Order: sequence, then structure tokens, then C-alpha cells
Amino acid sequence: LIELRGVNKHYGALHVLRSIDLTVGRGEVVVVIGPSGSGKSTLCRAMNRLESVESGEIVIDGKPLPEEGKALARLRAEVGMVFQSFNLFAHKTVLANVSLAQTKVRKRRKEEADRRSRALLDRVGLAAHADKYPAQLSGGQQQRVAIARALAMDPKALLFDEPTSALDPEMINEVLEVMQQLARDGMTMVVVTHEMGFARSAANRVVFMADGRIVEQAAPEEFFSNPRSDRAREFLSKIL
Ligand code: ATP
Ligand code: MG
Repeated sequence: LIELRGVNKHYGALHVLRSIDLTVGRGEVVVVIGPSGSGKSTLCRAMNRLESVESGEIVIDGKPLPEEGKALARLRAEVGMVFQSFNLFAHKTVLANVSLAQTKVRKRRKEEADRRSRALLDRVGLAAHADKYPAQLSGGQQQRVAIARALAMDPKALLFDEPTSALDPEMINEVLEVMQQLARDGMTMVVVTHEMGFARSAANRVVFMADGRIVEQAAPEEFFSNPRSDRAREFLSKIL
């Protein structure tokens, strides 16, 4: 569903993505881990062109990701993104936050968008909070709204960049549980996270990055019990 071939990117002299080859199949959950600065966020952002790349190919559902313009906007809507900071509109209700892009990008009528939004808010456990404003919700609840908003576009895949790292510990699980459920429902997901419990239980594959390269990738049980590279062993010894 998502294919990167020979993707390279520099920031000035810094080679942040080095010949990245990565394939994410339909329904697959890929967890990306690695030290700070290894290029995980850049990789995620490259996958829907929030970040341009210098060389290589990015193919979404068989279509090369266009450089810009309407075609890019259309394809970008197929790949939703959830960030560490939830980026909700503070002056709009929860319902309006989830409905907005549906009316603007998907051109749904407001009633239709709101109906879908309520169903999605129910799915993330927030049916009772539709008419509140973001500031009236906890961080975990706001992040679940952000997930509902991403789902509202009917994306083919969702990218998560450290979705729980801005949250207080007691709120992390409610967000991970929603993500677990999405994984069980067959959503294609790429998740950058330090939550190794999530990686073990939800991931089909763990991708380990260091210095802009994919150093190794393997099924979680294999990766955690038997990392092949020194870099991965060193990283795991620090975090586990
Ligand atoms: P973290 O775990 O800290 O989030 P990361 O693996 O997500 O790290 P990236 O954010 O992808 O890493 O950054 C990779 C490298 O690129 C880092 O060295 C970072 O300092 C650098 N970098 C990121 N964004 C920019 C930018 N806009 N301009 C210049 N350098 C950047
Ligand atoms: Mg990052």
C-alpha cells in the first residue's frame, strides 16, 4: 500500500534519510523505532509529502506521490497523520473539529459529516464529548479526537508520530487502546513510538532506524529477543 524506494533527503550537510526502502502492506502495522535524530519523523512526513525528498520514489496504493497540486492533496487525504501535538482548532467544538475537513476536502454535506463524526467519536469513546471544546478535554481525549478526525477522511493508511509522548502516563493507555483496536480492525498503520508494549502486541513488523538508515526490520518477537545489529542491541539496552 505504501512503498518507498531509494528515498534520500538532506538538511544542509545532514543526510537525514539514506536510501530508504520500505514497503507497508495493506492492513499491516509497522512500528518505527530508533534513537532521537535518526530520521523517524522525517520519514513519516515524507510519506505524505509534508516533507519533500530529493530522490527516490514514494508510491501510495500504486500511484506515485505527486510533487504538489490537487493530485497531492487528494493522495494526501488517503494517508492520515496523527502528531504528538494534537493540533485541534481551539475555537471549534470537538464535533466541528472532526467534521471540518470532511466538508472542505471530501465535500460532504454538513449533516452527513456530523453524522459520521458522531459515529467516529463513539468509536474512540468520546460520544459524550462532541459539543465540548478541546480545552475542556484531557490530553488523552484530545488525541483521540485527533484520531477520529484523521479517520473521518476514510484514509487508506494512518501515520502516527509519537502520538503518546506529550501525554501524562495515565492517559497513554486510552490512546494506545484506540490504536490497538484500529490495528485489529485492519487499518494500515505506520507508528513512530517509544511504547514497546504497543510494538510487541500490535506491530506486524518493527523497523529500527539509526543515522537516517533502516538498520534492521523484523517481526517484534524476533527483533526484541534477537536484534541482529549492534546499534539495535545498544538502543534496546537503553530503553528496556
Ligand atoms: P526524535 O526521536 O527526536 O523525534 P527523529 O528520529 O524523529 O527524532 P527527525 O526529526 O526526523 O528525527 O530528524 C532527523 C535529523 O534531522 C535530526 O538530526 C534533526 O535535527 C534534523 N532535522 C529535522 N528537521 C529539520 C529541519 N527542518 N531543518 C534542519 N534539520 C532538521
Ligand atoms: Mg521525531
